[in-house]
Amino acid sequence: MNLEEKVVIVTGGTRGIGLEVVRTFLQNRARVILFGSKEDTVNKAIEELKKEGLEAEGYYPKLSNYQEVEETIKDIYNKYGKIDIVINNAGISANKKIEETTIDDFKNIMDINVNAIFNMCKAVVPYMKRENSGVILNTSSMVSIYGQPSGVGYPASKFAVNGITKSLARELAPFNIRVNAVAPGIIKTEMVDSLPKEVIEPLIKSIPLGRIGSTRDIANAFLFLASDMASYITGVVLQVDGCARN
Ligand code: NAD
Repeated sequence: MNLEEKVVIVTGGTRGIGLEVVRTFLQNRARVILFGSKEDTVNKAIEELKKEGLEAEGYYPKLSNYQEVEETIKDIYNKYGKIDIVINNAGISANKKIEETTIDDFKNIMDINVNAIFNMCKAVVPYMKRENSGVILNTSSMVSIYGQPSGVGYPASKFAVNGITKSLARELAPFNIRVNAVAPGIIKTEMVDSLPKEVIEPLIKSIPLGRIGSTRDIANAFLFLASDMASYITGVVLQVDGCARN
């Protein structure tokens, strides 16, 4: 895929799925700006990419604060002259039972997984409308289809991500802005690596494709949806999960 000259923002781009998305888009010649939660993790990701001969820029706005997001997006627009693709990937998960989940836990997950996406979309859409062109991609999850047996805030937030995706796709289609989501299954990231063997092995055995997903599997799906190959696709939640049904 040739994304030459495309200006791409990836939130949660410092590690895991987001960092691989950044790497993949850079390898396909896009200009990529990664967002992280802290200066040091943003710098660490930029250094890691530099060692691979890849160059990205980084910012760390508080995604749940609309003013900070709006100012950062404005800076990026003023610097690059356009914003072609936004990938809303930053997210946190939850696994506590409802009795142990505090009101703040629930609010916090909604803030990062849902309100942050709203803020990013609200800030970026006026610039995309000016160009009559744009792509917004969101990271959902397989739990947005099936729910999960504990940690209700996480699937609730990802169902909301699908709602934002399908609704904005319809609202923004007349402006040639496509909005889609990728719903990963179980993906090999630091988070999954830290799970005990007895938890992860039965889960992997239950995946019909017989293996855990890689961050590259997910990045490739984002690459396809961002590219002109997907020019007639909008409002879709693409499951990339090896047919896992957990
Ligand atoms: P990760 O924990 O490795 O990375 C999360 C990223 O989000 C990091 O870059 C971090 O900086 C950013 N982030 C977290 N909290 C933030 C905050 N408050 N403000 C700004 N940025 C913040 O996780 P991952 O597994 O790579 O997950 C990335 C996305 O994929 C998430 O939306 C997650 O829900 C989704 N997902 C992951 C899996 C999986 O198996 N790993 C499966 C389904 C969906």
